[in-house]
Amino acid sequence: RQQTDPVLQLKNINVNFDGFQALTDLTLDIGVGELRCVIGPNGAGKTTLMDVITGKTRPQSGSALYDQSLELTGLEPIEIARKGIGRKFQKPTVFEALTVAENLELALKTDKSVLATLRARLNGEQQDRIEEILCLLRLNAERHRRAGLLSHGQKQFLEIGMLLVQEPHLLLLDEPAAGMTDAETAYTAELFRQLAGRHSLMVVEHDMGFVETIADKVTVLHQGQVLAEGSLREVQQNEQVIDVYLGR
Ligand code: ADP
Repeated sequence: RQQTDPVLQLKNINVNFDGFQALTDLTLDIGVGELRCVIGPNGAGKTTLMDVITGKTRPQSGSALYDQSLELTGLEPIEIARKGIGRKFQKPTVFEALTVAENLELALKTDKSVLATLRARLNGEQQDRIEEILCLLRLNAERHRRAGLLSHGQKQFLEIGMLLVQEPHLLLLDEPAAGMTDAETAYTAELFRQLAGRHSLMVVEHDMGFVETIADKVTVLHQGQVLAEGSLREVQQNEQVIDVYLGR
């Protein structure tokens, strides 16, 4: 994969929670269309990093430049989401009482007033988009089932679908394969490989087998800093990474 322009450039990000330094001068670039995995022990700052990018946490200092032009620090989470940055938390949050297709429709229409959302009809292009995503996520046969009846893995796929209908540029995913069966994990890996290129992805993950199957490049966080960066092979051979994370 050739080097591309950065979609996200984090520079010297500092986050301090009441005297506790969660991120220290964190500098990190993600390329357009890249699939980046972020790994590191508990408490390393992975969640805080995603919170900074999505506007949930405001850093004390540093810059987060999106698409080489928009400074994200200081923006509200809703503004950042509207700029095409989607986030998936570890636990799926789908509307369980709605069907699969209704969840996707709602996600597609959601940036309008509630009443307008309820009244809106999808245009042909939007309907095609939903069909495409139902197929991509292998939820076609489930389209009229209530989401609450889906398996855990299917709920995860549905939530990824709800992000995808909004056509994000950058997707942040927190342990997407957690709780999935082996077959679902394998399909998630395949799906991410398909999404990369068209979207940029940042995936926080603990499952090294999964990381190995998906990542172009891995960033290892430790104590709020980048400890190592490179291919999985490279970071796995890094002495410091072995000491603090992988163990001997
Ligand atoms: P990770 O996701 O890598 O496990 P986190 O980003 O959740 O790490 O946390 C990094 C550190 O910051 C942890 O030590 C955590 O306890 C601390 N931390 C996170 N959020 C807060 C907060 N709101 N207030 C105080 N400390 C926090």
